[in-house]
Amino acid sequence: MPKTKIETTEETTSSARRGARGANVQHVLDVLRSDGPSSQAAIARRTGLAPATVNNIVQALRADGVADVQWINGREALVQLVPKQGAIVSICAGPESVQGSVFNFAKGTRTNRTRKLLKDDRPGASPEAAIELIRTLAGDAGVAVSDLAGVSIAIQAPIDRVSGSIAPWAANRMPVWRNVPIAQVIKEALGVPVVVDNDANLAALAEWTWGTGRGSDCFLYVTCSGGIGGGLVIDGKIHHGGNGMALEIGHIVIEQTGPVCFCGSRGCLSTLASERSILAALQGSESPKRSLVEVIESAKDGDPACQRVLYEAGRNLGRALANMSKILAPSVVAVGGVLSEAGPLVFDSLHSSIEENNVPAFCPSIKFKRALIADATSLGGVAAIMSELGQGVSELPGWMGAAS
Ligand SMILES: [Zn+2]
Repeated sequence: MPKTKIETTEETTSSARRGARGANVQHVLDVLRSDGPSSQAAIARRTGLAPATVNNIVQALRADGVADVQWINGREALVQLVPKQGAIVSICAGPESVQGSVFNFAKGTRTNRTRKLLKDDRPGASPEAAIELIRTLAGDAGVAVSDLAGVSIAIQAPIDRVSGSIAPWAANRMPVWRNVPIAQVIKEALGVPVVVDNDANLAALAEWTWGTGRGSDCFLYVTCSGGIGGGLVIDGKIHHGGNGMALEIGHIVIEQTGPVCFCGSRGCLSTLASERSILAALQGSESPKRSLVEVIESAKDGDPACQRVLYEAGRNLGRALANMSKILAPSVVAVGGVLSEAGPLVFDSLHSSIEENNVPAFCPSIKFKRALIADATSLGGVAAIMSELGQGVSELPGWMGAAS
């Protein structure tokens, strides 16, 4: 059944794109992804299309099973994107583990699996381990691998889009992936549509699609946990830059004489606001901690040393975001990751840096927010594949965010 669905969808999408109506169909899909459930009148306003044209497109999308109509109070009909069939696998590969989920839209279920690396494993879950995990997840969903609608691979490292591999300067983090053209290798092994991207880029896409970035035409996202990554979504598309390595916010230099970073610079944001740097800053205090979560808990309990390091992390993050904002003029900036769970302990100093750098003068309507979407990388992978297939999910159903 999923295979039939995929063929139908691809045929519809490709034929629509070939035809004169193609651009209009794409425009309607883009609005539904950007704005969520919308009335046909609202779609007509946003696209500039005639109401009759919008109606025809909506009926065609409904006939294809891509869209549905939701009644509000029995009066207003909202169009929404609702894939009801097929399964998508979304995995994330990093230096310490490869984890993934299968989203079965026919059954409305999600299954998660993690493969942590054993001590004698080579560092960085290998491409073979990733392929094995995808096969296992397809089995969990009761779907043949060849029937998967698509597979998304998030990599916890920058991807050089020219070579399709991890950027050489970052390859030491996951050496078994060095020089591996990731999308090509996975596609050849599985024979299904594959999207490969940096994990923060995909997280940004999820936060734009279902979170605090919804409806924003220029959305900047930064995530701060073990590492620091960023993503920029412009008009619903991830901005990759010329070679794919745009938005490496973690490597913006904040202190020229700061600690040496693995990228070769000194004083990168990653050396000042990542988990490792925050824990290192506490080493000389009476409050050494084992994790950023512990630091945040202690800070909330009143530990002044933990409060201090979070304050400084927020201040440095604010400096980086101030510089980014003056260049990009985003309408919304969202901060995700473990650090954002510190709330005002981080955001107060972040906002101070924004004010100190006079960002509001350059971007009067800019908003800085805490990210809303948990597990954003995995969900961003689903959003990316759906965008490739001409599908989408306007409202995030509870089961997609649930672990099992
Ligand atoms: Zn760096």
